[in-house]
Amino acid sequence: MTIKNKILKSLILGAPASGKGTISSRIVMKYSVEHVSSGDKLRDHIEKKTELGKEVKSYLDEGKLVPDNVMIKFMLAELKKVQNRPWLLDGFPRTVGQANALWKVQPVDVVLNLVVPFEVIIDRVKSRWVHLPSGRVYNIGFNTPKSEGKDDVTGEDLIQRPDDKPEAVQKRLEIYEQVTRPVINFYKDKGILKEFEGRTSDEIWPKVTAYLDSIFQKL
Ligand code: ATP
Ligand code: MG
Repeated sequence: MTIKNKILKSLILGAPASGKGTISSRIVMKYSVEHVSSGDKLRDHIEKKTELGKEVKSYLDEGKLVPDNVMIKFMLAELKKVQNRPWLLDGFPRTVGQANALWKVQPVDVVLNLVVPFEVIIDRVKSRWVHLPSGRVYNIGFNTPKSEGKDDVTGEDLIQRPDDKPEAVQKRLEIYEQVTRPVINFYKDKGILKEFEGRTSDEIWPKVTAYLDSIFQKL
């Protein structure tokens, strides 16, 4: 791997609710990299009712993908803001079109793919609550907030995402299989994909951190 003396550009892949957000926040804390989450950024625009927010709201509510042209323009601009820092991309790219567009402006060094059984995912979204401003995720029974319905850090309200409704989850998993699966192969072909299997984030995290430790030691 030719990543010596480089600012590490990494990305994380995985099915909806595979724990990308949870693993990402641990990576961000331990390795001080910038977390660039397309889903968090889009939800932020929706919350603030910006032009982009209004344009993309119905896609997110229904669990559909935002069109490539909108997504590519938006995310490449976001990445420009953090171009001199190491970053971890989460939620982008989700199509081969997006992967190609990203590769042209910024080839990534490392791609982490989380592999979690689908039945675990379906179960998990039912009990998922999020703190919108920070993107912090809670799961009742596994990572329960200290006070019901409230964020541990700020005490603000937690919400259930509209796209965590069973119909939307089903739709997101179908799209993932058809459209996002090929993205995994895109990076496999480049020789930079590393897969991590497990049923929970606590099972996956030690494997991820062992791998990243070895990468960061080479930098
Ligand atoms: P989780 O965050 O739990 O892993 P997820 O990956 O499905 O679940 P987000 O990444 O938060 O959720 O994305 C939520 C929604 O935002 C998607 O269903 C889609 O509508 C939109 N979205 C986010 N990233 C992209 C992208 N790269 N291309 C198209 N749409 C996107
Ligand atoms: Mg996410």
